[in-house]
Amino acid sequence: MSVLEDRLRRTLTELHESGTYKSLRHLTTPMAPEATIDGLGEVLVFCSNNYLGLANHPEVVEAGHQGLDRYGAGTASVRFICGTFACHRALEERIADFLGTEAALTYVSCWNANEGLLTNLVEQGDALISDELNHASIIDAGRLARQATRKVYPHSDLDGLNTALTESSGAPAKVVVTDGVFSMEGDVARLPELIGTCRQHGATLVVDDSHGTGVLGAHGRGVHEHFGLPGRGPEGVDIFTGTLGKALGGAAGGYVAGPRDVIDYLIQRSRPQLFSNALPPTVACSADKALEIVQREPERVVRLHENVATMRTGLQDLGYEVLDSPTAILPIIIGATADAIRLSNRLLEMGIFVIGFGFPVVPEGTARLRIQMSAAHTEEHLDRALAAFAKLKGEV
Ligand SMILES: *Cc1c(COP(=O)(O)O)cnc(C)c1O
Repeated sequence: MSVLEDRLRRTLTELHESGTYKSLRHLTTPMAPEATIDGLGEVLVFCSNNYLGLANHPEVVEAGHQGLDRYGAGTASVRFICGTFACHRALEERIADFLGTEAALTYVSCWNANEGLLTNLVEQGDALISDELNHASIIDAGRLARQATRKVYPHSDLDGLNTALTESSGAPAKVVVTDGVFSMEGDVARLPELIGTCRQHGATLVVDDSHGTGVLGAHGRGVHEHFGLPGRGPEGVDIFTGTLGKALGGAAGGYVAGPRDVIDYLIQRSRPQLFSNALPPTVACSADKALEIVQREPERVVRLHENVATMRTGLQDLGYEVLDSPTAILPIIIGATADAIRLSNRLLEMGIFVIGFGFPVVPEGTARLRIQMSAAHTEEHLDRALAAFAKLKGEV
C-alpha cells in the first residue's frame, strides 16, 4: 500500500474510533420539514437551510421545469463567452432590487462568489481583515488573496477590528469581511458598529449574509434590514455576498451584490466567472421564483420568526442553554464531539433530524447540536421535536 493510502486509512480509522466519523444519510423525498431517509424512515428535518420552506415549493419546482424547457439543461459556456441567458439577468436584477444594491452577479455557489470577489478586490499591499469565525469559504478566499496583507480579528470584537485597521493605515485599500449571521453560533454581526468603524478608517465592508438573507428583517432582506440599514451608500453595507442554496430555494448558486462598478469589474476579472460555467438556467429560474415568493409573501418570514421564538422558549423551558439571537440557528453547546454526535444519533432514532457539529467544524470542546428552524414547520412539528428533546434531557 502506498504511503498516501496508508495515511488516509489511518485517519479514517481514527475518526471511527473517536466517534467523530460522519456518515452520509440519503433522502428519498424532497427537502421539506418531513422527509424520508433511506433505511431510517420518516423524520422531521431540523437541520436544513430550507428556512422559508421554498426548496420544494410547487411554484419554485415549476419555474425550474419551465427553465429546463425553455433553455435546456446546460449553459455549455462561461458567462462572458456565450453562457449568459435572459434568466441570469432577471435573477440578478431581482437580487439587487431585493437587497437594495445597484447590481448583482451570480456564481455557481457562494463559495465561488467569495473567492471571485475577495481575490479580485484587493491588490498588492492592501489589507484584508476578517472575523475569526467567518465561513470557511471566506477563510479560503483570503488564503488565495495572498497579494494582500491579511489580518483576523477576534469574533465580533470591534476593538480588535479597530486595532487591525489602525495597523493597516498605510494600506492603499482596506477590506473588512464578515458573515452577516455566524453559522455555528447563530449570532448576528454587529453591523451598525462595523459600518461605523469601516467609515472611520476608510475601509470597505463586505458582508456574506448567506444565513441572514430570507431570515432577518421584516421582509427577510437580511442583516441590514434587521438593523434598519440600507444596502448601499455611506450608511449601508458596501458589498454583499450570499447563497441561493439556503432560504432562496435551496438549490445552489451564490452571488455578489453591490455597486455596478464592482459587478462590472468581477465580470471582467474574477476567475470563477471567466473559467467556470454559468449557473444552470433551471437553478436560475427556480431561484428567481423563490425570491419572487419571498417578496410577495413576507408572512413566511414572520412565520419563521415565530417558530424560532417558540422553539427557543420551548428548549429553554426544558433546561437547555440556547444562545439568544434572532436568527434561525439555535445551537445547544454539548462539549465533546463524540457526545454531540451520540445525542444527534439518539434524536434521529426518535425521528428528529438534528446534526451534531464538532471538531474541526467548531473548536474542540465546544461541540454542539445545531437546530435550524423553517417557516414550513408546523406547531405539531415543533411539539414533536420538543417532546424528543424532553426525553433526551431525561436520558442525559
Ligand atoms: C453556506 C455558506 C456559504 C456557502 O454557500 P454555497 O452557495 O453553498 O457555496 C458561504 N458563506 C456562508 C456564510 C455560508 O453560510
